[in-house]
Amino acid sequence: MKTEVKKIFIVKAKVEESPTITTLSLTLEDGSFPTYRPGQFVTVYFPELGTPEGKAYSISSAPSENIFTITVKAIGLFSNKLCSMNLGDSFEASLPYGYFFSESEESPLVLVAGGIGVTPFRAMIMETIKHFPSRKIVLLQSSKTAEDLIFKKEFNALALTNSHLKLFFFVTREQNPDPADVNRRIEIGDILGKKDQKDSEFFICGSIPFVRDIWKGLRDKGVLEENICTEAFFSH
Ligand SMILES: Cc1cc2nc3c(=O)[nH]c(=O)nc-3n(C[C@H](O)[C@H](O)[C@H](O)COP(=O)(O)OP(=O)(O)OC[C@H]3O[C@@H](n4cnc5c(N)ncnc54)[C@H](O)[C@@H]3O)c2cc1C
Repeated sequence: MKTEVKKIFIVKAKVEESPTITTLSLTLEDGSFPTYRPGQFVTVYFPELGTPEGKAYSISSAPSENIFTITVKAIGLFSNKLCSMNLGDSFEASLPYGYFFSESEESPLVLVAGGIGVTPFRAMIMETIKHFPSRKIVLLQSSKTAEDLIFKKEFNALALTNSHLKLFFFVTREQNPDPADVNRRIEIGDILGKKDQKDSEFFICGSIPFVRDIWKGLRDKGVLEENICTEAFFSH
């Protein structure tokens, strides 16, 4: 079996995106960032927590931003440990890998995020807007509460200056929903009802049931399997 190359990553900055979600800005020991493609992830190792194979965390920054971030929702052993790290702390992780990205530079992107599954989409959106600003992107982002609709302000600011970025926010258990957000789960009609979807690539990321249900719904409506790319997280 191939042995994973493990590197030491150092925490350089922390941002609280919500009471339970934290972005960690990381570098390698020499201050550099590893090479990666938006949509890839690293595997983090905390052997003392009893999962020797480590756990995956998507990279939420884009290479063009000249930062390297992961964004973590605190729900259990690994994620709580990451979220409670301090500046200067370090941990072992793999170099970036994974295939959750588009090979095209033109096809419209339809990004469907459940909860913390929005992390790789931030990377894709930032990189696409930087290098291919006329590429069409539709983001449908769902979370239980408004405070967990992370990156919403940043995405809205980007959409103000980029008419090719269309945003749709959904909340499923919010007591006081923003009138601009849709107050229910994402339905397949929400994803397929958008303009210019010929040749679109559909990316789905979120919990296992979220990804499974959206994938099945798209397939039932005739979206080709080769146009759907999925990443399922063991979290919500
Ligand atoms: C490719 C990939 C990318 C990911 N990217 C991110 C990311 O960007 N940000 C992020 O916060 N998380 C991400 N995750 C999820 C992350 O890897 C961890 O699974 C998550 O942080 C929970 O681990 P934990 O040790 O904190 O929780 P745990 O202590 O393991 O468990 C917390 C809860 O998670 C659920 N759970 C845990 N393991 C499983 C399992 N094997 N099967 C089903 N349910 C399970 C259970 O409901 C459990 O109660 C990603 C996962 C994958 C596969």
